[in-house]
Amino acid sequence: IRLFTQPLSNIAQSMTSLQSTGAASYRVFNLLEETEMRDEDHLIQQLDNVKGDVTFDHVSFGYDEDKMIIKDFSANVHAGQKIAIVGPTGAGKSTLVNLLMKFYEVNEGEITIDGHPVSTLSRKAIHDAFCMVLQDTWMFEGTIRENLIYSEEGVTEEHMQEVCKAVGVEHFIKTLSKGYDTVLDDNTSLSAGQKQLVTIARAMLKDSPMLILDEATSSVDTRTEILIQQAMDKLMEGRTSFVIAHRLSTIKDADLILVMKDGQIIEQGNHDELIEQKGFYEELYNSQFTETEMD
Ligand code: ADP
Repeated sequence: IRLFTQPLSNIAQSMTSLQSTGAASYRVFNLLEETEMRDEDHLIQQLDNVKGDVTFDHVSFGYDEDKMIIKDFSANVHAGQKIAIVGPTGAGKSTLVNLLMKFYEVNEGEITIDGHPVSTLSRKAIHDAFCMVLQDTWMFEGTIRENLIYSEEGVTEEHMQEVCKAVGVEHFIKTLSKGYDTVLDDNTSLSAGQKQLVTIARAMLKDSPMLILDEATSSVDTRTEILIQQAMDKLMEGRTSFVIAHRLSTIKDADLILVMKDGQIIEQGNHDELIEQKGFYEELYNSQFTETEMD
């Protein structure tokens, strides 16, 4: 197994530990990846005009060779579709995303993006094609503008403001003493909900054709929760979206739901098909599972 720098679960922690380095952490992903990128010189460095078709073709993977977590998994995801991944903690949801992002490589089978096997793509090419909104949001010491624009060059002031308006965070930013120039530090920090919204705005500004969304479960007030939900819906529009789902609403309208349990995909289909199957999903659904039960 080749372990690359940043499996999903570790990203947020690394960002937190680096955030005090201020503007230097701007391109933190690139810095972290420098060594491995050298090994990837022979691979495709950039995907142009990404449509967002993804296939999993008989994929098997285990962190240990003798304990396969994903077993012979196949699925065809069409551009613009929404894929919900559901299941209890430890079920393997993050593992699936780790493979898609090439943080780990599959043991057998193949994942393709627009027909290109992931093994032929550099991680840079893959990471450029995805925006990620993870549960553990991260901010670095710098202005709100820097936090929003992150590593995207050429984003106009006008576009940034439009996006902030669209995700419903503009009003809040304008109430700050220096607006977009307000420096986030120990004295000025954002609430969990505000961070979520800024993170969503950042992803929208990155504007990649595909999206990984790990829905937040952190407790925010109802109004903020609605804002976040609306912003996430906007972000998903027109993007192939992989959503680690915690909410029924997300799941019901997904094109494909992957139900994971004990590290395996035990059922797949859309909501109606899975209810029809009367399996684990139907059980989860009928028990009106709570967020904690669902992870
Ligand atoms: P979920 O995202 O659904 O909570 P994970 O994909 O994180 O589940 O975990 C699936 C299984 O893989 C769990 O049994 C977990 O302990 C194991 N696992 C996750 N990450 C690693 C790792 N880096 N090394 C070894 N085992 C891991």
